[in-house]
Amino acid sequence: MIWFRELIVLLVLAGGGSLSAGATPGTQASDPAPPGCGGLLQQGGLVICQAPPGTQFRWNDRQVRADEEGWAMFGLGRDAGEKLEISIRPPQGAKIVEELTIEPRNDAFRVIEGLDCDKVDARTPEQKAHAGRSWVKKQDAFGTFHEGRGALDGFVRPAKGPPSSPFGPARKYVGVSAQTGEACEKVSVHRGYDIAAPTGTPVIAPAPGTVTLADPDLYYEGGTVFLDHGHGLVSVFMHLSEVDVSAGDEISSGARLGAVGNTGRTTGPHLHWAVKWRDMTRDDRSGDFYIDPALLLKLDGGKAMSARRKDGAPVQTGSINPE
Ligand SMILES: [Zn+2]
Repeated sequence: MIWFRELIVLLVLAGGGSLSAGATPGTQASDPAPPGCGGLLQQGGLVICQAPPGTQFRWNDRQVRADEEGWAMFGLGRDAGEKLEISIRPPQGAKIVEELTIEPRNDAFRVIEGLDCDKVDARTPEQKAHAGRSWVKKQDAFGTFHEGRGALDGFVRPAKGPPSSPFGPARKYVGVSAQTGEACEKVSVHRGYDIAAPTGTPVIAPAPGTVTLADPDLYYEGGTVFLDHGHGLVSVFMHLSEVDVSAGDEISSGARLGAVGNTGRTTGPHLHWAVKWRDMTRDDRSGDFYIDPALLLKLDGGKAMSARRKDGAPVQTGSINPE
C-alpha cells in the first residue's frame, strides 16, 4: 500500500498551513502525524483517515468528518475506481488533496442449480406479509446510529469454522418450481462472508458495538442480529438458531450474540456475516453499501491505529489537536 505521506507533507508546507500551531516543524515524537488516509485500500475495503478533530474529508460527492479523537472512516464499494481523490479540509490550515490507489477485486461469477423457487420468493399472502414486516424492521435498524470506534479496534472472526463463501461473487441461481413447474432464476451478489459451522456454534461480536436489531425470525434472514460499531459500520448476522441479545445492548468484542443456525431462506447451517457502511450525512439509506468482512479481519486493533504511520509506530491520538 502506498501512503503518499511525503506528498501530504509537501502539500502542507506548500500551502503554508500550520496544522499544529506551536509545534516546530521537524520536532520528533510529539508531532502529530499529518492529516491523511490509509486503511484497506481495495474495492470493498475501508478507508481510515486521521486528522485534527472536525476535519472534513470529501470524495466524489460524499463527506465524513473526523471525530473528537481525529478519526474518520468510510467504505469503498465493490466498483470503486482505481484512483480515489480525497479532499482534506482541517478546521485550521490549508486544504490537502490526497490520492489513493485502490486495488481491484477479481470476483467470480457462479451459476448454482437446484434453486427452490417456492422457498426463495415470498409468494403466499402470509409469506409476503412476513417479508414486509421483516423489511420494515431492517430499515428501521439500518436508520439507527450509535457512536463507536468503528474499525479502530480491529475485527475478530465471529464464529469458528472455515470460510465457505466469500464476499463479492455474483451468483445466478436457477431452478424449477415444484408447485407450478415453471423455471425460475435469481441473480444476486454475495454481500456477506459465510462461515461453515454446525447449528449451535457460538456467534460472537467481531468488534464492540450496540445491538440495533435482534429478531429470531425474519423472513429471508431467519434469526438476525445487527451490531452497530459506530462510524456508520454495522455488522449483520443471519440464519441464527439462537439470538441471545436485545436491541440496545452494548456488546464488547468477543461477547456472545447467539448461535449459528439454518433459519430463514438458506440451504444449510452457516453464519452469513455482512458489514454495511452507511453514509451518515444522508437521510435516506440509498447511499449505503456492503463492504468485505474478510478485509476487516486483516485489521487488528494495533494495525488499525497505526495505519497512518509508515514506521508502524502507534499514532498518539491524544496529540492530534488543532490548538
Ligand atoms: Zn452468505
